[in-house]
Amino acid sequence: VSDLVLVLVTRPVLRDSGASTSPNDPAPGFVFADPAAPQLSVLDLGVTRGDGVFESVLVRDGRAPALDAHLARFASSARILDFPEPDLAVWGRAFAAAVEAASTRGQRAFGVKLVLTRGIEGSAQPTAWLLAQPAPDFAALRVGGVAAVTLDRGYRHDAARTAPWLLQGAKTLSYEINAAALREAERRVAREVVFVSSDGFVLEAPTSSVIVRFGDRMVTPPSELGIVPGTTVRRAFEFFAQQGFETASQRLRASELQGADALWLVSSIRQAVPVTALDGAGLELDEGLTARLNTWLGD
Ligand code: PLP
Repeated sequence: VSDLVLVLVTRPVLRDSGASTSPNDPAPGFVFADPAAPQLSVLDLGVTRGDGVFESVLVRDGRAPALDAHLARFASSARILDFPEPDLAVWGRAFAAAVEAASTRGQRAFGVKLVLTRGIEGSAQPTAWLLAQPAPDFAALRVGGVAAVTLDRGYRHDAARTAPWLLQGAKTLSYEINAAALREAERRVAREVVFVSSDGFVLEAPTSSVIVRFGDRMVTPPSELGIVPGTTVRRAFEFFAQQGFETASQRLRASELQGADALWLVSSIRQAVPVTALDGAGLELDEGLTARLNTWLGD
């Protein structure tokens, strides 16, 4: 617990006027709190229904290169759930305060989780906090890779448009389906999952985006398929473009994965993890390229 920094965000959403608080406001809109003490009500809808949104941001040497993209996606997730608009000025200041506190404790790499729930039932007051915690060591996974299986997500590729109440593409607190899929992967003697739509399109992994290599072309599925728009895939594509690869965000049929030369699962905290086998078929592991990609991402 001594490694954790907890910040409660006391003014997490914009007031009715839509105006953000001024940076000179004497009340910053957040307070530090004791991560070892109970902070959450048993009536909080974030707990009882998973009714909330979150972001996980990697901080390394005091820097969070994708922070603005994370904050924008946090606001977008909140919108999908019909939440009031997060006050990103307050979140940005609370984030900076958490990073400073964690850095002064000598932590070099840590994750910061931002959480916003609908609050206590009937209160109309969202609950919000930010937690900085040491990043798990994923170095071995980044080098050795993982075996993955494709699993049906059960929705068509256009579910985000035809059934927006499914909240596809939002980072909600209801990640149990994602956790269940990972358990299913373990039953199939794999560690990871590539979700496929019920009509056969490659989507994403339970906690990461998918990048597929076909020769000198890198492809990722587009966010219009109701997947979380990844911040890491965007940064990875900057790297690949610089290395002379063509990059494209386009639909891929699951059957096309059989012709893939390589596949990576990319996400903020874990960065790029190569997939060494998909549904039992081996994939190329380019150790040099993967290592350079991870260096670019901040390894
Ligand atoms: N897709 C899902 C379902 C995720 O949970 C995540 C990561 O948190 C991602 C994709 C990758 O997003 P990012 O690269 O911004 O971490």
